[in-house]
Amino acid sequence: MTAGVRLIIMGRQGAGKGTQCQRISRHYVVPHISTGEILRAAVREGTELGKMAKQVIEAGRLVGDDIMIEIIRERLEQDDARTRGYILDGFPRTVAQADLDVPRDLVIQRISARRVCRDCGTNYVATAQKRDPWICDSCGGDVVQRNDDTPESISQRLDLYESQTSPLLKFYGQDGRLVEIDGSLSPDEVFATLTVAIDQARKNG
Ligand SMILES: [Zn+2]
Repeated sequence: MTAGVRLIIMGRQGAGKGTQCQRISRHYVVPHISTGEILRAAVREGTELGKMAKQVIEAGRLVGDDIMIEIIRERLEQDDARTRGYILDGFPRTVAQADLDVPRDLVIQRISARRVCRDCGTNYVATAQKRDPWICDSCGGDVVQRNDDTPESISQRLDLYESQTSPLLKFYGQDGRLVEIDGSLSPDEVFATLTVAIDQARKNG
């Protein structure tokens, strides 16, 4: 079996991060740990940290690093992550790191086309051919556009990403642990580039 990896994947919204994380996760047999997902799970399950996070969210604020770090720490202590490693998606800190770089207009185009099933969460991409109503292939639920997938809202999220992430990229770039990948290529090309970069980084220790 291939050796595991410890990775942080950073990329703008719409850079294709979700897709690539899933593929890398299968390829290296490591859990894909989406910080957004484990945060929602902690809130849903009402864990100690989840309750703290819920209060913050309900007050309309962003969950701070202190709570996030603890939630992530708990997840990384589980067996799969301890033995195989992990792909950390949405939180920056650790060994190797890949940045998916995609032009802003392409991001807005990709996200604006994003549709999701209201019931089961399956993702779809809108095409020129209009489907109205759009019924989910998996469960028959309504396929809709998320409220925050509008160009204005995407633009705001991109600004936030720019301002918060640039310092991090610089930080990781300085000690040679950053690999930047062009995310505007096809998913297959991006995946191939990623695995080459990961294997190379692993060889260099
Ligand atoms: Zn569905």
